[in-house]
Amino acid sequence: MYRGQSVVVIVVAAGQGTRAGGDGNPLPKQYRPLAGVPVLQRTLSAFIAMPEVDLVLPVIHPDHAGLFAALGLADAKLLPPVAGSATRQGSVLAGLSALEPHAPRYVLVQDAARPLVSAEIVLGVLAGLENSPAVLPVIPVTDTIKRSADGATVAATEDRHTLFAAQTPQGFDYPAILAAHRRAATLSGEFTDDAAVAEWAGLKVALAPGSSRNLKLTLPDDFARAERLLHGDRQMETRIGSGFDVHPFEPGDFITLGGIRIPHPKRLQGHSDADVALHALTDALYGALGEGDIGRHFPPGDPQWRGADSATFLAHAAEMVTSRGGRIVNLDLTVVCEAPRIGPHVPDIRERIGGICKISPSRVAVKATTSERLGFTGREEGIVALASASVELPRED
Ligand code: MG
Repeated sequence: MYRGQSVVVIVVAAGQGTRAGGDGNPLPKQYRPLAGVPVLQRTLSAFIAMPEVDLVLPVIHPDHAGLFAALGLADAKLLPPVAGSATRQGSVLAGLSALEPHAPRYVLVQDAARPLVSAEIVLGVLAGLENSPAVLPVIPVTDTIKRSADGATVAATEDRHTLFAAQTPQGFDYPAILAAHRRAATLSGEFTDDAAVAEWAGLKVALAPGSSRNLKLTLPDDFARAERLLHGDRQMETRIGSGFDVHPFEPGDFITLGGIRIPHPKRLQGHSDADVALHALTDALYGALGEGDIGRHFPPGDPQWRGADSATFLAHAAEMVTSRGGRIVNLDLTVVCEAPRIGPHVPDIRERIGGICKISPSRVAVKATTSERLGFTGREEGIVALASASVELPRED
């Protein structure tokens, strides 16, 4: 039904986007990660993925060209970004004007800060465009709405059944909205959305279903809400990994094991602090992630890791789980040695590992055994550690 390059989406991302900050994050909100993916990238990708959409045009702030390039987006449907202006209305007009060579039949105007836009909303807007030059997705207002003239007392109660909250993408007949925006640009006031420009120009604006999920990221809390919605969508899978490590003894007066110091007439030899238990756990997490091993991330030949606190390695592996939108389900550690006695230190070790991985110690098991005086551990030449990790990760295929 929509043939050729007849549906183009303008994604308006030209705002400074600082209002959703408040936590010291210097990035404009449209470039901030939402569940690991920048907001603008999510919004653009949502439209690029829709077969009904032929082209997508980002309108960005002139100062954000570097940020946009850093997204590394490339797609045949994605047009090079155009620079917006100081007002939203001016930015939309810049986008509409840039589309003239493409002469689309329909244009949808989308706020970058609504990354959870769905195909259903877009299909509803496109269906409405068959009978109306302008279509506005809306949701019913559920709160009772009061009017107040002074901000202190109620003047009237509105009939909420006649009220709707406007969302994007707002859809338009392209020549009609381009003409309306050009005329509106000569006025002194500013319209807050494009449907208002269409209304002012006398175009009939039809309503289409929006969605409460299609929220606009405005305040810091909105990011948390959107991430919960996104995580709810993702299918998780459980993965396991295993780790094994050995370190020999050398003369000394304590060992570092499981992130704590245990007095002992020998110490463990190694490039870092030689914490054999944390090394095995770190490899177990890398194993669950399919991310190689500790030597790949922290090469033993690199002088910066000499004497390093192995908590750094384990924390790195744990953070990789979180950054991929996953979580550690449990860790299981077995230490093999004749001495020192590990049992009395188990509660402290569980506490410490839980702290490094930012999980409850109840998810950390620590066991110790001897090797019945057999082999190198039996001869007290070193310590063996074995570990398993179970993690939950978003499914990728
Ligand atoms: Mg090691």
